[in-house]
Amino acid sequence: MIKKKFTIDEKVQRMCSACDTESGHTVVTVTKMGQITKLSCDVCGVVSSFKSGVKTSMGTSSKVGSVYDRTRKYRIGQAMLHSTFGQGEVMAVIEPQKIDVLFGSQMRRLIHAQI
Ligand SMILES: [Zn+2]
Repeated sequence: MIKKKFTIDEKVQRMCSACDTESGHTVVTVTKMGQITKLSCDVCGVVSSFKSGVKTSMGTSSKVGSVYDRTRKYRIGQAMLHSTFGQGEVMAVIEPQKIDVLFGSQMRRLIHAQI
């Protein structure tokens, strides 16, 4: 198994502990072996350290989103749990207050950011 080598300033998708969502990150530091040690979140700017061997899952099934809240503002890639449709992931922001969310194989249009 050859591990992928990363370079500084490379863009990667990682789970952000601060945003609580998978978001774009910029590689800040890497080891000699090209493994990420520090990442900065493009969304909130938090710099997080990564231990080698930490696996980040890319599948939607392993994501556990918080319960859907129409007053909350969602972003692409954010996971949610809907009382009717179950586990979903935001696929697109259609309008400032409309999002397309994929629940299993079904796409649903939901409202968000309602004040
Ligand atoms: Zn973040």
